[in-house]
Amino acid sequence: MQPRDLSAHTEYVAGRGIEEVARELGMEPTELIKLASNENAFGPSPAAVDAIEAHAGSVSSYPKTSHTDLTERLATDWNVEPDQIWLSAGGDGSLDYLSRAILRPGEKVLVPQPGFAYYAMSARYHHGEIHEYSLDQGDGFTQRAETVLSAYDGERIVYLTSPHNPTGTVCPLEDVERIAEETDEETLVVVDEAYGEFADVDSAVGLVRERDDVAVIRTFSKAYGLAGLRLGYAITPSEWADAYARVNTPFAAGELSCRAGLAALDDDEHVERTVSTVEWAREYIYEHVDAPTWESHGNFVLIQVGDATTVADRLQERGVIVRDCTSFGLADCIRVTCGTEAETKRAVEAINEVLAE
Ligand code: PMP
Repeated sequence: MQPRDLSAHTEYVAGRGIEEVARELGMEPTELIKLASNENAFGPSPAAVDAIEAHAGSVSSYPKTSHTDLTERLATDWNVEPDQIWLSAGGDGSLDYLSRAILRPGEKVLVPQPGFAYYAMSARYHHGEIHEYSLDQGDGFTQRAETVLSAYDGERIVYLTSPHNPTGTVCPLEDVERIAEETDEETLVVVDEAYGEFADVDSAVGLVRERDDVAVIRTFSKAYGLAGLRLGYAITPSEWADAYARVNTPFAAGELSCRAGLAALDDDEHVERTVSTVEWAREYIYEHVDAPTWESHGNFVLIQVGDATTVADRLQERGVIVRDCTSFGLADCIRVTCGTEAETKRAVEAINEVLAE
């Protein structure tokens, strides 16, 4: 007995846990700093932790599936109807639901290169065909409508990432609108705003309210520090009211995740501290690292270091774990997550030491 032929599918390359790396290096986990997965340097919102503790006793019951308190709250915050909010296991879960809801076998999906690997993976699981548009390193990875539209060839889904992983650039709203306008009626433009809280630009949710061909993805993994709870959501066109119930994995969003998410939404202090530290760290990195950087709107900075794999390995020996961007097709770049002030300073110092060797 074998699974179907999965040889064409990419394996998901998840960042390794800090314990595993520490064991390999013969170090204590506390001696390492992990700036490789764009996690929140301050951990979870304390209010979310309290909510988890308070509701832990209820987990023998199945969670509510529709119109949960969290769905209602998000709908109010975004000024959409509750059935436009599709809760999921992280933003990744939303990407998968959209593929399930939309793709017929053999239909095409347009993804950015470099870009977040799961767009193509999820589309392939659903028998989609992948086409790419290229963001140009020499042009600062700028995201413009012309780039996407010149590669467009009737794809069913077009992915935009704003802010973009791993470069940190944004796709201006007028460009998102132009792409939606100039692609076929049957094409959905998905704007992945996993890093939206760190960007000083408007969300594309306004376009979801006005149109029927744009969806937005958001997550609790980054600014809210809840990556381990696996909670995200898509905001989908209002015409799709009954689709979620048809594509949703039963009880996908766990009760504790929803409770924690709801509490985190009220914890402005935690989000503000996170965002202001990210803003400080980005500037610190641009200014102090002895290598070219790109202006980032995310909680990370892309740095051009030469041989990325060697530099990432040398940094790891010094206890600093960063993302080697070779798997994104950028073999000369590392991506460094914004840490606390102390972590960011230590990372920059280590990068400069390695570059000077
Ligand atoms: N989109 C982008 C661009 C990402 O970088 C990530 C996480 N690294 C996600 C979506 C999904 O994150 P999660 O599933 O944790 O919400």
